[in-house]
Amino acid sequence: MSTRDFLEKDYYKALDVSKTASADEIKKSYRKLARKYHPDANKGDPKAEERFKEISEAYNTLSDPKRRKEYDDARSLFGSGGFRPPGQGGAGGFPFDLGDIFSGGGTGTTSGSGGRLGDLLGGMFGGGGRGGTQTRPRRGADVETEATLAFHDAIDGTTVSLRLTGEGACPTCHGTGAKSGTVPRVCPNCQGTGQTSRNLGSYALSEPCRECRGRGLVVDDPCPACSGSGRAMSSRTIQARIPAGVSDGQRIRLRGKGAPGERGGPAGDLYVRVHVTPHPIFGRSGDNLTVSVPVTFTEAALGAEIKVPSLRGVPVSVRIPSGTPTGRTFRARGKGARRKDGTNGDLLVTVNVQVPQNLNGTARQALESFRDATAGEDPRENLLRRARQT
Ligand SMILES: [Zn+2]
Ligand SMILES: [Zn+2]
Repeated sequence: MSTRDFLEKDYYKALDVSKTASADEIKKSYRKLARKYHPDANKGDPKAEERFKEISEAYNTLSDPKRRKEYDDARSLFGSGGFRPPGQGGAGGFPFDLGDIFSGGGTGTTSGSGGRLGDLLGGMFGGGGRGGTQTRPRRGADVETEATLAFHDAIDGTTVSLRLTGEGACPTCHGTGAKSGTVPRVCPNCQGTGQTSRNLGSYALSEPCRECRGRGLVVDDPCPACSGSGRAMSSRTIQARIPAGVSDGQRIRLRGKGAPGERGGPAGDLYVRVHVTPHPIFGRSGDNLTVSVPVTFTEAALGAEIKVPSLRGVPVSVRIPSGTPTGRTFRARGKGARRKDGTNGDLLVTVNVQVPQNLNGTARQALESFRDATAGEDPRENLLRRARQT
């Protein structure tokens, strides 16, 4: 049974009911007609048998609300009434993406796309039998994008607006590829299956139809916006939650934020490559924050309680013991980046002993006194001795 047969069949007419008939009316009419044309009551009458099949097929579709809706939608799209955009009367009402039906497939011109229309209609009509509806859901594609975060947003987590660009149905022709006011035809070469078979001696090879390049449809007047491909680049903006503690170069996965699924399939995932703007003061070392702070010679020598900046704005006290050499690192616990488990990393404070640049008289005198007091100490003494020994 060809696609054209499906599309041209009027199940309402077959059951002698109106398009707006209630489920009850449909059932009643079906019973009446089924009794009348039942093969048992019409032995040897091929016309009655044909009519009985027609009634059964129609009832099989119209008695199932979901299948009836799909049938209605398909007919309003392809049927005698001409093409009607799917957005009409609520975009959510359409059970499948037009772009998908007409698309040339994701990876190549023909690969994988063959038979999609056949699949779609096969599922829609239960394969023409009583197999039930099985419009195959399809998972949306994974999408990859990049985001640049401020340093503290990477630490604390944030919500970012991401503009995603992807290929979708052409808005001008709603994915049909046909010029406004025209409708694509079911491909006569493959009857809409998108596949043709070729005999190669002992076996038959199934391949994408050359006439329609696997689409199952032919466009006579191509849409000027998309040159008949039915596809166009479109963009959407989504809000994405970036978890706390991401670091520069990390690739994070946001489940279900990729391309929307089709026919009820789940959405794909979104992968965001994160770039973190360096902070003028703080650095990162895993879950720990790093900061380098200047200390005076006397603070290092005598010991001190110093205030160091923290990312949260409130200074943190760090105790420097007497005799602290330059370059030593102290740990302020829990003042670093948030970890996945909700605890915090540490703030690693590295001290950098400053040499006074401008000494006033009193300071100079004090240092000269200090020099005199430590005159016997030569910090290079040990080094010189070792150098002599080797
Ligand atoms: Zn178009
Ligand atoms: Zn074809």
